[in-house]
Amino acid sequence: MYLEKIEIFGFKSFGQRVKLKFTKGIACLIGPNGVGKSNFVEAIRWALGEQSLKTIRSRKSEDIIFSGRQKRLNFAEVFLYLKNENSHLQSSFQELVVGRKIFRNGENEYFINGEKVRLQDIIFTVSKANFGLKSYSVIGQGMVDSILYSSPLERREFFAEATGIKKYQLKRKEAVIKLKKSQENLRQALVALKEVEPRMHFLTRQIRKLAKRQKIEKDLFEQQRKYYGSKKFRLEKEEAELKKEVVKKKEEVNKKLQELKAFQEKINFFSSDQSSLKFNQLQKEYQASLEKRKKIMETISVLKTEMIFKSSKNETLEAQRKLKEIELTLEDILIEQENLMTRLGQIKKIEEIKEIQQNFLKIIEKTKLLLNILQEKKCSPSPQLKIVEEDLKFLEEKIKKLEIDLAQILKEEEDKRKEVIRQQKEIQRIQDSFTQLNLSLKEKEIELAKLETKKEDLKEEIKRDCFDQQILTVLENKLLSPAEEEEAFLKIKKLKHQLEMIEAIDPNIAQEYEECLQRYNFLSSQINDLNKAINSLEKIKKTLDGKIKQEFLSNFNKINHEFEKYFKILFKGGLAKLVLREKGKKENEPLNKDQNNLAIQESQEEFLSEKDEEEKEDWFIEIFARPPGKKIKTLETLSGGERALTSLALIFAILKIKNPPFVVLDEVDAALDEINSLRFAEIIKNLAKKIQFIIITHNNTIMEIADFVYGLTMKADNITHLVSLKLEKV
Ligand code: ATP
Repeated sequence: MYLEKIEIFGFKSFGQRVKLKFTKGIACLIGPNGVGKSNFVEAIRWALGEQSLKTIRSRKSEDIIFSGRQKRLNFAEVFLYLKNENSHLQSSFQELVVGRKIFRNGENEYFINGEKVRLQDIIFTVSKANFGLKSYSVIGQGMVDSILYSSPLERREFFAEATGIKKYQLKRKEAVIKLKKSQENLRQALVALKEVEPRMHFLTRQIRKLAKRQKIEKDLFEQQRKYYGSKKFRLEKEEAELKKEVVKKKEEVNKKLQELKAFQEKINFFSSDQSSLKFNQLQKEYQASLEKRKKIMETISVLKTEMIFKSSKNETLEAQRKLKEIELTLEDILIEQENLMTRLGQIKKIEEIKEIQQNFLKIIEKTKLLLNILQEKKCSPSPQLKIVEEDLKFLEEKIKKLEIDLAQILKEEEDKRKEVIRQQKEIQRIQDSFTQLNLSLKEKEIELAKLETKKEDLKEEIKRDCFDQQILTVLENKLLSPAEEEEAFLKIKKLKHQLEMIEAIDPNIAQEYEECLQRYNFLSSQINDLNKAINSLEKIKKTLDGKIKQEFLSNFNKINHEFEKYFKILFKGGLAKLVLREKGKKENEPLNKDQNNLAIQESQEEFLSEKDEEEKEDWFIEIFARPPGKKIKTLETLSGGERALTSLALIFAILKIKNPPFVVLDEVDAALDEINSLRFAEIIKNLAKKIQFIIITHNNTIMEIADFVYGLTMKADNITHLVSLKLEKV
């Protein structure tokens, strides 16, 4: 990889776009003071991500942007084009273009191959490609001295870049930050977990109790569902049967009621019978006939008496006496007849008619006897008598017939009366049966009402007894045997007792438990994740430590070796060493080879032990240099030229080991005399076989070894202009 082109626009004195093309080998940039040579070097530094304004000799970021007398630009940009030859950078790109742009408002933009990227991406990429900022890739004026006089931290930084461990250190630093953050997070998570744990244990116990309680409640609910379901089912069954019975009984009662009504109507019909009316008529007729006959008989008697009286004008006293006798008898008959008539009117029993009939027959006999007596007197009857007697005869027959009819009616009446009595008995029986049925219906209805009450009571009992009122809607419709019912009852009792034994638990505890569990699980998994992260970060750290240690020691030793070599070349002899040393430790004689090796060995071991960055600040790298023939031990006692040569020896050592794609040297040769310039040029030439050099110099000896020379000029416009001067190599 090598720098193919640099494009600068607007950066400091580069008020015009300047494109500097390079080839591999050595290029020199020359020009008088103040034309912008150092600006060019700074442009490279800036493009590589330089953040220190001081390093690029500016007070504010705006100072970077070109501001001339005639014009003022609004932005500055620098692009470095690197040819990815031999895939130096392990990437598929043929070319790596690193760029930076700044606007007057201070806004910075970074680019890699045309894509906008972050500053870190630039740092990472250039560090990977071996031309990091703080390294030897861009070595400015004064930097040569500053390596020697830098603070221990700066020097360590310098060597970190030089030994190639910077990228690992950055990763390690990142890992350590992450590790500390993870450890802090872990500590906080552990504290939080410790806070949550007692509550979690309490809630777990509570939730177990709650689960147990819920299980018992569920069992209880099940048993109650069975038990009360059976009870309800039994009542409902009884009720259904009873209802059926009531319906049946009602039907029977109705039937009986109909029967009763029918009988009633029948009896009413009997009682409204017209037969007694007929009887009364006949009786009246009969009475009238008897009355009539009495009168006829009286008439007959009168007629006969008259007849006898007429014929008896000549009769004896005897005869008169007999007549008197007849007269008396007739009077008796009359009285008897009147009595019978009266009785006839009051008749109640059929037997009485017969008796009256018998008495009438007796009267008739008596009357016939009297007739015979009178007929003995041989009285010839009058025609009127004959008519009357005819009437009597007719009347007698009528009376006889009436008597028969009356007797018949009375008999019928009797039969009817008997029937009525029989029917009355029957109706009584029906009435009794109806009453009985009605009573039984009423009893059933009462039973039904009682059942209803029982059902209500059961409902109330369930409501009282069961904690979950939903049970009413899910009661099991199954009849249990008494034994099963008893068993369920006992189970309910037992379960209730068990429930009483468990303290009441707030049902909201479940939600709190859930939340707490979530937090607990979250913290546990966080702790788990953090532990994993810490483990893996520690592994990464350990691996990086290993790499850092290995690469540092290896490269440090190599640099040390090369430093000594280049020192000897530049000074034509002498001795120089790099030593890792702990602050405050007794100094060993560094230039005594054996002791020195021992010191290096010990120091390195300690320096690279797994201590934190801060602790490592107690460690530093010492540079010992002794030019030939001198007894100088410390750098401070070296002359300016000697210091420059020592620094260059170190820079060359690093360049040799690191083999960067390009190196920009900004007047590092300023302090060299002619001879040292030649030695310097010789070394550059050697190194240039592998490294591209861009050298800003005023030194002709150096210019002579250049493959290409660019001249920079500045006209009245104060803008840096480019003049390419291809030099013919001698
Ligand atoms: P020397 O050889 O003495 O070191 P040089 O060639 O390195 O000189 P520089 O230091 O690179 O010179 O350039 C300094 C010049 O750049 C000065 O003339 C200065 O005015 C000019 N300059 C610096 N910043 C700006 C800027 N923002 N706009 C315009 N010109 C600037």
